[in-house]
Amino acid sequence: MALRNIREIGDPILNQRAKEVREMTPNLRALVEDMVETMRHANGVGLAAPQVGVLKRLVVIECEEGELHVLINPEIVERDGEQTGYEGCLSVPGKTGIVTRPNHVKVKALNENMEPVTVEGEELLARALCHELDHLDGHLYTEMAEELYTNEELEEMQAEEDEDEA
Ligand code: ZN
Repeated sequence: MALRNIREIGDPILNQRAKEVREMTPNLRALVEDMVETMRHANGVGLAAPQVGVLKRLVVIECEEGELHVLINPEIVERDGEQTGYEGCLSVPGKTGIVTRPNHVKVKALNENMEPVTVEGEELLARALCHELDHLDGHLYTEMAEELYTNEELEEMQAEEDEDEA
């Protein structure tokens, strides 16, 4: 296993549509392992293959420790409700945006053994599923963020909120 280099905003590969995965190969298995390791090392809750420079429809998501989802050729088949909240991306370092997403989604995909799986999620998992699947179509959350803050701005805002509450 190895850490992969995470591509950052401005890299054209992040704006391209990723291709369907037709079969699991030793190379793809290694990619899945490396993506999981890279996501965990970066303290992310999800990572899509284009973010490590591979245009394949493959994402890994781990919103809660030990609940790893490996999703190949994923598709959202249901979406309900709405949530507006903070969102960040390992490809957009140092920034956080406010993004509205469905509060609940259902995704159909294949797992790392190319077996059909269904993942249903609310709140953070729903947000992560939408965010990672957007990467496969070449979209970053910055395109749909209502507001975009630097981490410094966010810290100042939170400090002010704390003052108001005091
Ligand atoms: Zn992202």
